[in-house]
Amino acid sequence: MLVSVAHPDDESFGMAGTIARYANEGVKVAVICATNGDVGSADEEYLQGYESVAELRMAELRCAAAELGFAELYTFGYRDSGMPGSPDNNHPASLWAASDDEVTARVTKVIREFRPHVVVTFDPYGGYGHPDHIKMHRATTAAFERAGDPTCYPEQIEAGLEPYSPQKLYYMTMDRRVMKLFVRLMPLFGQDPTRMGRNKDINYVEIVEHSYPIHAFVDTRAYAAQAERAQMCHASQLGGFGGPSRFMQFLMRMRRLLVGFYTETYMRACPPVPDGVRVRERDLFEGVAAD
Ligand SMILES: [Zn+2]
Repeated sequence: MLVSVAHPDDESFGMAGTIARYANEGVKVAVICATNGDVGSADEEYLQGYESVAELRMAELRCAAAELGFAELYTFGYRDSGMPGSPDNNHPASLWAASDDEVTARVTKVIREFRPHVVVTFDPYGGYGHPDHIKMHRATTAAFERAGDPTCYPEQIEAGLEPYSPQKLYYMTMDRRVMKLFVRLMPLFGQDPTRMGRNKDINYVEIVEHSYPIHAFVDTRAYAAQAERAQMCHASQLGGFGGPSRFMQFLMRMRRLLVGFYTETYMRACPPVPDGVRVRERDLFEGVAAD
């Protein structure tokens, strides 16, 4: 299984239980982390002993890797792009500033090297509209299609990699019905749901409008403690409500109210689910054939 995300903590706040479950069941899991998380702020106390926020966050990611038991970690080293409209979007080293084709080529190379049966990334809205998440959604979806085509990025084939097509593609997503209700109630408590978070850059109204179907329900009850330990590895990102990680935690709680506290949910993008067909998988590897 290949998990393709943007920041050091997306793996733990998005799908820690799923990674822990499959790693425990003997699946080889690799994670792509495209940025080094250098825009995420961290309190002074966490930075002691580290040269930079990026160095701290990569150490946190290695801690989570050890807890969740994933086999490989691929880092691309882009700069975190920050939320939409922030000056960090335009930094030339940011993930958002990189061309779609460049990022797709890098994900394709990982797919051809690691040869996963199942690939997981963000939904088209990146969960809550983060530009880096949307970038990784697009690049990973394109790479999933292209990795098996020898005419795509032929320089990788010339360098000795074989074309390879993974069998299934999933998007991490969540049921937004509870959130919808919550967003409707917020003005009653004097909250503006369009301007939330520490930087007032999270728009809950927009988030609940981006709803995707759920096709897979992964029971992670047995790995709840492991998942929590992995999330605690990212301690520098847990301080103060409003940061993306805190926000992801909130979303996870909302999702869990509906589908069960220890269930992580996914949309199946490939093989595509025809309109009107109800799919309720319990296992991302359902129907996967051995090579
Ligand atoms: Zn993220």
